[in-house]
Order: sequence, then C-alpha cells, then structure tokens
Amino acid sequence: MIRVIVNGAMGRMGRTVCDAVMAEEDLQLVAMIDPGFKKEDSGGGSGVSGIPGFSSLAECLGQVRADVAVDFTVPDAVFENVIACLKAEIHCVVGTTGLGEEQLLKIESQTRSSGVNCLIAPNFAIGAVLLMEVSRAIARHMPSCEIIELHHDQKLDAPSGTALRTADLIAQEREAGAPAPAGPEGHAARGDNHRGIPIHSVRLPGLVAHQEVIFGGQGQTLSVRHDSISRESFMPGVVLAVRRVAGLDGIADGREKVM
Ligand code: NAP
Repeated sequence: MIRVIVNGAMGRMGRTVCDAVMAEEDLQLVAMIDPGFKKEDSGGGSGVSGIPGFSSLAECLGQVRADVAVDFTVPDAVFENVIACLKAEIHCVVGTTGLGEEQLLKIESQTRSSGVNCLIAPNFAIGAVLLMEVSRAIARHMPSCEIIELHHDQKLDAPSGTALRTADLIAQEREAGAPAPAGPEGHAARGDNHRGIPIHSVRLPGLVAHQEVIFGGQGQTLSVRHDSISRESFMPGVVLAVRRVAGLDGIADGREKVM
C-alpha cells in the first residue's frame, strides 16, 4: 500500500486527485493539505471521506507518515512544499507549473541529500505527452511553428508549462540540426518568444486545457492539437507517477519518464 498526501487538496486538480487516489486499491490517501481547511480543524476527519485535512504542510508532516506527496497548488507555494516533503523523505509527484530553473536545481540537490525522488510534469494527460513527442518529431522536418495554448480563466501562469515544455523540445530539435527561424520581435500580438518559438495564450471561462502547434512549410501547414475536456484526463498519469516515483533516480522532468 502506498500512503499518499495531497497538497492543494481543495483546488480543482487536488479534489480530482484525492478522488482518483481513493479509487485505487493499492493507494491510500492519508492526508489532505490546503489553506481552505480550518486551522482549528487540522488533523480532523474531513467531510464524507473521513481523511484528515490540514491547513498547512508543516502540521501534516508532524503527524502523518507518507510515502508520496502529490502537489497541485500554486506557483508561489510549490517549491517550499516540495523541499519540505523531500526533507521528510517523502517522494514527490508535482503537477504544479511555474517552477524556475534555479528552483529545479535546488530540488535536484535535495533529492540527492534525502535519497528520495521527485517527478515533475507540466501535463499528465497521455494525449498531451504524445502531442509533445509528435511536435518534436515534426520539428525535425518542419522547423517553423507557433504554439497556441488555451486554458480556463483562473489559471495563474502564462504561458502554460505544457507550452514551454513543447517549445523546449522543439528548440532542442532545431539546435540539433534544423535551421532555427527567427522568433517574433517587438510586437505583443505576435506572442511570447520562448527560444525563438511564438506562444499565444488564451484564457477563457469554459476551457480546461488545450494546445495546438501549427507547423508551416513550403506551400503547406501541419497542425497538431490536444484537448483536455475534463480534469479526469490527467488522473491515469498522476496515478502511474505515484506508483513509479519511488523507482526513479533523483529528479525526473516529464510524464514520459514513467511511461
Ligand atoms: P487551484 O484550483 O487554484 O488549486 C490550488 C489549490 O492549492 C487551492 O485550493 C489553494 O488554496 C491551494 N494552496 C495554495 N497554497 C498552498 C499551500 N502552500 N499548500 C497547500 N495548498 C495550497 O488550481 P488548479 O487548477 O487545481 O491547478 C493547480 C496547479 O496545477 C496549477 O499550477 C496548474 O497549472 C497545474 N496543472 C497541472 C496539470 C498537469 O497535468 N501537470 C494539469 C492541470 C493543472 P487557496 O485557493 O486558498 O490559495
């Protein structure tokens, strides 16, 4: 039995993760952490599930033993959460986007000193992982492309972590051979320039998580698109990551590392 705690348990993703963990026979949800739990209630059973809810991770770590922590919180909280869990020798599965390069290096160093692992993935949906892989392969032959990512209007970061990761994979292919076309210059309407690749971010109510990559070549275009139409799309990937994170070596970037 793998004992799991969920950070951000009252958020859109966190709630779905708690349900997904409780539905698996080999996983046990042992605590939920979110500022939405009242401090005076910390550690008490919550609602129908009876699982202890904590308003802070520090309180939880003092009372609960866990094997894996799943984090779907906010860009401002994720780094400290992950470091605290790693120091407590708990493996981490991180879906929260917005971690910077320097923070990733510190997390990598903490995995080594604590002897536990951390898997970070900007998108746990299999379709999105395939879109990224396919985009990388297409870029070998059609290096000119632009990314349009569309998300719900409550999303805090832009561009999305998935768009940045897709652009990184395409940029790696370009640097390995294909000539790199120039990125947009000076015009906000041409999008954000990430390693020469324009990214356009749309935020609207009604959307969940969507991304299209449009490639252009001589006399032709090729478009690949992925749509997460519900948050359940991410759950098989999260559950897989929870089961496999202990078998990784240190830090791993991308869901494909456990596929
Ligand atoms: P959300 O609904 O805003 O949920 C975040 C939750 O975290 C909120 O309940 C928030 O509480 C709570 N929180 C804030 N600080 C915390 C802390 N220190 N410890 C524990 N909980 C804390 O956001 P969401 O839509 O679920 O998305 C969460 C993250 O997942 C975002 O970064 C998003 O981009 C990412 N995401 C990743 C994937 C993937 O496949 N990797 C898929 C979808 C979304 P308050 O509201 O009180 O601040």
